[in-house]
Amino acid sequence: MMPASKDSDNAFGLQGVTRAFGPVRAVDAVSLAFPRGRTSVLIGSSGSGKSTLLRLLIGLEWPDAGQVLCDGTPLQRDEVLAVRRRVGYVIQDGGLFPHLTVAGNLGLLPRHLGWKPARVVERAHELAALAHLHADLLARFPAELSGGQRQRVALMRALMLDPPTLLLDEPLGALDPLVRHGLQEELRDIFARLGKTVIMVTHDLAEAAFFSRRLVLMRRGRVLQDGSLADFRRTPADPFVREFLAAHRNLPDADACAAG
Ligand code: ADP
Ligand code: MG
Repeated sequence: MMPASKDSDNAFGLQGVTRAFGPVRAVDAVSLAFPRGRTSVLIGSSGSGKSTLLRLLIGLEWPDAGQVLCDGTPLQRDEVLAVRRRVGYVIQDGGLFPHLTVAGNLGLLPRHLGWKPARVVERAHELAALAHLHADLLARFPAELSGGQRQRVALMRALMLDPPTLLLDEPLGALDPLVRHGLQEELRDIFARLGKTVIMVTHDLAEAAFFSRRLVLMRRGRVLQDGSLADFRRTPADPFVREFLAAHRNLPDADACAAG
């Protein structure tokens, strides 16, 4: 059980939010709160509504019913740009502009907001150190980076304005297991050190449990269960929870490996 919290303790909340695309309810009557300074993970199969839920929080989608709360007050259309400046958002493939260098990508929004070039450069170097990205790479184009380096840059770009909140949509989904494992550890460390509110989407249960004790399992736009992995195991709220857990196979013993 989540402890009771006031709306104003939460970076974001949803109250009975529905967002439909034609006959599909991508998000269906969802009520959730995301407490400040904590990491929460949205998990569920592809198509369960995770990305739409994130997009609703920053006004990239708008509810058909219900409301989104931002810092305890209903999100209004004329506040969306201000909200986005307080939220770093990373999409699955990183969403870097291919025609801009790393430095260009990092500086785009700050320059638009009137930062002096020296300040942009200083912040870029600060974040390169934080994300363990060699400063030489700031002059490269995204196509000249490895997948892991691109994801580091996407995260750095989301952190440029030092937003209190990060929304991360499968930020490690495209990486090979070794790179992914290393970045998981670094990211968890960075989130803890910076004290950010983080809402992360993943379809990988082990990754979800690694980042947070608070997992929100979605299916067909609904929240099936909101709790820890231990809660899911001990008291599954729906038969699908057990099915979802069972689908995450552990490595077999050598003896039990598939033959051939
Ligand atoms: P997830 O991120 O969990 O994979 P999504 O939020 O992307 O799920 O999608 C949830 C459902 O909403 C899916 O059935 C998807 O096809 C549908 N959907 C999402 N965005 C759109 C859109 N812009 N137009 C039509 N259908 C959409
Ligand atoms: Mg998605």
